[in-house]
Amino acid sequence: AQLANQIAAGEVVERPASVVKELLENSLDAGASQVSLEAEQGGVKRIRIRDDGCGIAQEDLALALSRHATSKIKVLDDLEAVLSLGFRGEALASISSVARLTLTSRPEGQDSAWSVKAEGRDMEPILMPAAHPVGTTVEVGDLFFNTPARRKFLKTEKTEFGHLEEVVRRLALSRFDVGFSLTHNAKSLYQLKPATTDFEREKRLATLLGPAFIEHALVMDMAAESSGLRLYGWVTQPTHSRSQPDQQYFFVNGRIIRDKVVNHAVRQAYQDVLYGGRHPAFVLFFELDPAWVDVNVHPTKHEVRFRESRLVHDFIFRSLHRVIADMRP
Ligand code: ADP
Ligand code: MG
Repeated sequence: AQLANQIAAGEVVERPASVVKELLENSLDAGASQVSLEAEQGGVKRIRIRDDGCGIAQEDLALALSRHATSKIKVLDDLEAVLSLGFRGEALASISSVARLTLTSRPEGQDSAWSVKAEGRDMEPILMPAAHPVGTTVEVGDLFFNTPARRKFLKTEKTEFGHLEEVVRRLALSRFDVGFSLTHNAKSLYQLKPATTDFEREKRLATLLGPAFIEHALVMDMAAESSGLRLYGWVTQPTHSRSQPDQQYFFVNGRIIRDKVVNHAVRQAYQDVLYGGRHPAFVLFFELDPAWVDVNVHPTKHEVRFRESRLVHDFIFRSLHRVIADMRP
């Protein structure tokens, strides 16, 4: 019961962006190297995500839609050590209870694809043969069609799409090795190829954050051998006029986070060179021993707790300060 409660704490479906987050994370968990996303009307009318990941076997398809069916956790202790992005086993179940969901998949070695459809809470999933290459497509239509009270809380198409786009942006920044494409109302916004060279990575940054970001950005890479801490990525000069407070991306072991210790260290590092209260833009990746960081503080996993917060703070501050001091205008 305790496990069920801990897992159920993450109520997931709030708006199209939360659907996209769950589905993209599933595709990444499945080892996809290419993920394409199509949305209509901000994602409210339709979200379709196709990946080339490991797929789901025919006999597991219906199960994947049932609550607490996860292939990613076995015992409570795994919650502590879990490294894969998802672990609650309720995203597909929650989504299908408030939308029309079709899951189509083919794993390697299975002759043909199968599809399972569910609409709302009371419907038994229907299994049908389908055509699909190895991988998975999830289609989610008419979000909140059966829960008008929740539909009322949705904002304009533009706002909902903005949230959706931000979810894709964060994941595309955290996984340069995966290709992402995004289409809205039949208009292709971008097709990002897997990026392996610095040039390709910077091209992706320019696509996702605008060319001004990369024009003003410096690459950094600092490591402390004794503690195994590493901080790398791109920082901009605070004079970069287009830099926005929302162009601040900080990933800890691959996950985007918001954290007081990190914020303070970053702000302090920039303090000497900040003019006119401008917000610096950055995309930073911080790596440390997973045993030193607790990522399960909050079910949405945007928050972390560092076991050695003092050490972490000082390392981030010193590493950044060294880079930022050099670019004083
Ligand atoms: P969780 O991701 O927490 O395990 P979900 O409800 O998101 O729970 O997914 C349920 C299960 O369905 C997953 O554990 C996984 O086995 C399977 N699954 C979902 N999406 C995909 C996908 N894109 N590719 C392969 N398997 C998937
Ligand atoms: Mg999941």
